[in-house]
Amino acid sequence: MPDSLKPVRVRFAPSPTGHMHLGSARTALYDYLLAKQTHGQFILRIEDTDVKRYVPGAEEELMEGLRWLGLEWDEGPDKGGPYGPYRQSERKEIYQKYAQQLVDEGKAFYCFCTPEHLSRVREDQQRRKIPPHYDGTCRNLSREEAEERIKNGEKYVIRFKTPKEGATTVHDHLRGDITVENHTLDDYILVKSDGWALYHLAAMVDDHLMKITHVIRGSEWLPTFPLHAMLYRAFGWEEPVWVHLSVFLKPSGKGKMSKRESAELIKDGYSIFIKELKQLGYLPEAVVNWTSLMGWSYDDHTEFFNLPDLVEKFSIDHLNPSPAAINFTKFDYFNGLHIRALTDADLAQRVKPFFVEQGYQVEDAQLLKIAPIIKERIGTLDEAVPMAGFFFKQEVTPVREELVAKGLTAEQSAAAAQKALDLLSSYSTIDLNVVEPPMRELADQLQLSIGQLFGILRVAVTGQRVSPPLFESMEIIGRDVVLERIKRAIAILQ
Ligand code: GLU
Repeated sequence: MPDSLKPVRVRFAPSPTGHMHLGSARTALYDYLLAKQTHGQFILRIEDTDVKRYVPGAEEELMEGLRWLGLEWDEGPDKGGPYGPYRQSERKEIYQKYAQQLVDEGKAFYCFCTPEHLSRVREDQQRRKIPPHYDGTCRNLSREEAEERIKNGEKYVIRFKTPKEGATTVHDHLRGDITVENHTLDDYILVKSDGWALYHLAAMVDDHLMKITHVIRGSEWLPTFPLHAMLYRAFGWEEPVWVHLSVFLKPSGKGKMSKRESAELIKDGYSIFIKELKQLGYLPEAVVNWTSLMGWSYDDHTEFFNLPDLVEKFSIDHLNPSPAAINFTKFDYFNGLHIRALTDADLAQRVKPFFVEQGYQVEDAQLLKIAPIIKERIGTLDEAVPMAGFFFKQEVTPVREELVAKGLTAEQSAAAAQKALDLLSSYSTIDLNVVEPPMRELADQLQLSIGQLFGILRVAVTGQRVSPPLFESMEIIGRDVVLERIKRAIAILQ
C-alpha cells in the first residue's frame, strides 16, 4: 500500500486557554481530512496542564466548535478510546515516568537554579548581547548530589540535556530538511517545579503513546521543533511525519493573526472566533471551505468545496508554507455560495434561530416558503431577519417619504396605490401568475414606470425599500394582510 493511503492517526491538541479561532479550525480540519481519506483516526486531546491559563468552559467551546464545523473525532476525552485518558491533566504520572527515564539515562537533568539566579543570568546575557539561554549550572551535577538536594526539599525542574556539539537535522513535510547547530538550542525545561510536564515532553510522550503518525500543528512550533525531534530520538521512538502549517496574517496583511489582538479582527460583523462566526450568521460549510484554502489548494481554479469533496481531494502534499492573509471579503463570497447551495428546508431551519433570537414568532411552513426567495439575497444568515422580518410582523410601519415614488407627489403616489388596491381587491387570492400581468398593465395605464408603482407597493407591503420579490412576497403574506397594509400606506400618504 502506498504511504499516502495507509490509515493515519492524527490529533488535534488544543489548550483550553481561550476561544477557538480560525487557526485551530484549520488545523483540526486538515487533521480530520487526512484521517477520513485514509480511513484512519482523528483524535481530540486536551492539553490542559497549564493551570494558570486554563479558561473554564473553553473545552466545551472547542468541542462545540468542532461539531459545528462537522469535524467529529474518533477518540477523545468525552468518548474515550484505546489510548486514553485524552486529557493531559489526567496523565501527570505518565510524563513523570518518561522524564525519569531520560534522567536515568543521562539525557535530562535536575536543575535547582532559583528564579533569582536565572534572572541574574538573563540580565548578564542581555548586557553581553548574547541570546538568552540556560547557563548550565546544574547540567553536570552528580546523581548523588542531586538526590541529596531533592531529599533536603530543594525545588527543582527537569531539563533536557541538549547536546552542545554538532548539528541536528529535522524534516518538515512542507519545508524539507531544517538543520540547526545544537549550541543554538537551550536546555529546555521538560518538567516544572510543580511536577507538571511542559508541552515539549507531554505532547511528544502522548503523540508516541497514542501512535500518532502525522503531527499537524502551527508554525509557532518550528523554533522548538528540533527539541521535539531530539526527544523522540532520545527515547528511540519512530518520528511522526511533521507538518507545520503556514501562519495566518491579519486582514491588512501586516503581521500575524493573534488572538490577543482581537480588536483589529473582530469588527464590522467579522470575527476570527468560531463561536462568534456562528452568531454572525456564517455557515460552517463556508468556514470549512474558506479555511481549507488558507494553506492548501487543489488546482489553480477550483474553489467550491464541501466537506466530502475535501475528504476526497485534500492532500498534505499540496500544502503551502507561505503565510495566508485572512480575507474576509473572500469569506463572504464563500458564505454566499454555500447559502445558495442549501436546500430550502435546510436554509429555513438555519435562519430560524436568528428570527427567534430577535423575538419573532415564526412558523416553519411560512419559513419554508420564504427560504427560496431570500436565498439569493442574503450574505449571512442573520441578514434574513431585516430582509424577511416583515412576514412575521402584525403590522409594518412604512416611512412616509419612502412611500412617495420618485418623480411623484404624495397625492399622486396615494392615488396610484388606490388603483392598485382596487385591482388587487378584485381577486379572491393573490396568485403571482394571475395578478402580476394586470398590475404591469396598470402601471402602463397610469403612465408610471414599473419601478414607481411597484416601489410604492413594496414599501407599503413590506415596510422596506429592499425586499424579496414583491409578488412572491405578497403571495406568501396573503390577500387580506396585503390589502390591509396598502390601505394603511394610503392613509399615511394622505
Ligand atoms: N496545545 C498546543 C497548542 O494549542 C498543541 C500544539 C500541537 O498541535 O502540537 O498550541
